[in-house]
Amino acid sequence: MRISVKAPAKINLTLDVLFKRPDSYHEVEMVMTTVDLADRVDLMLIEKDEINLDCSASFVPDDVRNHAYKAAMLLKERYGVKQGVHIYIDKQIPVAAGLAGGSSDAAATLRGLNRLWNLGLSLDELAEVAAEIGSDVPFCVYGGTALARGRGEKLKHLAAPPPCWVVLAKPPIGVSTAEVYGNLRADQIKEHPPTEKMLQAIGQQDFGLMARSLGNVLEEVTLPRYPQVRQIKELMLESGADGVLMSGSGPTVYALVQKEAKVYRIYNALRGFVKDVYAVRILGEAELEVLA
Ligand code: ATP
Repeated sequence: MRISVKAPAKINLTLDVLFKRPDSYHEVEMVMTTVDLADRVDLMLIEKDEINLDCSASFVPDDVRNHAYKAAMLLKERYGVKQGVHIYIDKQIPVAAGLAGGSSDAAATLRGLNRLWNLGLSLDELAEVAAEIGSDVPFCVYGGTALARGRGEKLKHLAAPPPCWVVLAKPPIGVSTAEVYGNLRADQIKEHPPTEKMLQAIGQQDFGLMARSLGNVLEEVTLPRYPQVRQIKELMLESGADGVLMSGSGPTVYALVQKEAKVYRIYNALRGFVKDVYAVRILGEAELEVLA
């Protein structure tokens, strides 16, 4: 038996760091939403009682370092599952890009194996396992749009943001999330994002307010180090984007665009500059369907 599960990327509409905690994690506050750029995770029952994994991107680890592998391992251990699984990841989301690709693969694996192994777990129960894998994984279990606090695992679900286009561009560099957080001085942040305004924009379906309320404190670390990230932001604005922001710890930058006519102008301007450019829609609502 085999099933396929969609694993969408996320973007941060806001990302704030409130303080550094005694356990050395950062206390964050962020609004996240899923976009229609997704990996596909295929799960297949196998004879042997083991987990094995293949990924279409050869540089992604295929062992326990892979978040999807870890998800299967944790679920298997916690619920005493005696069946094996083969995991195949068709990678479409750029890696180490600030789009939670690995986290979303893990979340899709949890949702899919819940079905394949007949575990009957709720999304809340899956989110508990997810928190052991990484801070963004619980959000990815539910998908949709949420305000995340704590390390990212305390979630308040939100309505879908006003519909719009998202043009994503990733410069050819990989950024380590741990390194970016490590270089952030939480007590010296110059500008915190207007999280309350973002929540208001979503509540009132006000696209203009949403585009004006984007903010990510990690730009203070990543922008000075990688000039390309700033250049992409500027190019997007010059080409008519309504709002631009770096997602997560970067280096992917996205533009929010309301009018379809502008999307291809921005897309084409960026294609002359970087290879990895995508024009997609905000999903907004949770899309957790098993594909086949
Ligand atoms: P996040 O926002 O969750 O930190 P990201 O978009 O910054 O995610 P990922 O694409 O998840 O970054 O990759 C981060 C690292 O995790 C990579 O360097 C990769 O080696 C490792 N990794 C583990 N599992 C996966 C996976 N399934 N897909 C991609 N990378 C993975």
